[in-house]
Amino acid sequence: RALEREQLTLHYQPQIDLETGLVQSVEALLRWHHPHWGQVSPAEFIPIAEGSGQILQIGDWVLRTALAQLRAWRDSGMPHHTMAVNLSAIQFREPHLPERIAQLLGEFDLPPDALELELTEGVAVSDPHTAVTTMDQLHARGVRMSMDDFGTGYSSLSQLKRFRIFKLKIDQSFVRDLGQDANDRAIVSAIIRMAQALGMRTTAEGVETGEQLRFLRNEGCHSAQGYHFSKPLPAEAMERFMRERVTESAH
Ligand code: C2E
Ligand code: MG
Ligand code: MG
Repeated sequence: RALEREQLTLHYQPQIDLETGLVQSVEALLRWHHPHWGQVSPAEFIPIAEGSGQILQIGDWVLRTALAQLRAWRDSGMPHHTMAVNLSAIQFREPHLPERIAQLLGEFDLPPDALELELTEGVAVSDPHTAVTTMDQLHARGVRMSMDDFGTGYSSLSQLKRFRIFKLKIDQSFVRDLGQDANDRAIVSAIIRMAQALGMRTTAEGVETGEQLRFLRNEGCHSAQGYHFSKPLPAEAMERFMRERVTESAH
């Protein structure tokens, strides 16, 4: 009922281009405010919505709301960036997904490369063949796909090479201890090298310190996301962040 009662909202977190310092993409993150329980974490309620199948309806609402927001930002003259939306493996199994996405992009008059779908390695576990077909169809339509939380899940390289992946998102568990842990440094730089060799871009997740950022930039990571730049924010606050960022980088 959270949907009907309009208790769901989206917050937005910037992904910063490490070369230009500009917002390259904005990730939509679902928030549920329950009148008695308060803020419920998506890590808690999304698995439940996946189990009940309600993730399909919720996921459709997320896509529509995020694209409507991107349309509004483009209309108000904000610098162009892409919108990243998380998709559950259950949504990815829906045969109509590519069509539905094309329909929503058309409705908001947005080009396909304005959207980045964030998938996890779990998309291919139960049915790799269908996952590859869906990715091919989305790719053919010009929609970009990112692999979220890379390195924590299935991480099958034989699958990665068949996936139409635009970007690897390096999981925050490797980023957290970059300052102290030589193994994490080795893993992160290996992921960046591998992505470069495969023609994929890289975004580091959970960047909280300048020290982590310097390491990532030196290793050639393309972009970064985390509290060091901004927490996920409501749309209006995100808009202010972006306007300030543009003014700053102009000086
Ligand atoms: P994710 O897609 O990997 O999103 C990144 C998570 O890391 C977010 O947690 C974000 O708030 C948090 N984060 C960002 N920067 C930092 C940082 O510097 N330090 C730390 N410690 N954390 C940081 P959040 O918003 O609680 O979301 C958790 C997960 O829930 C997401 O992980 C994603 O898998 C899922 N999720 C969120 N929204 C949606 C949605 O609309 N649909 C689906 N299917 N899943 C979603
Ligand atoms: Mg994500
Ligand atoms: Mg992640």
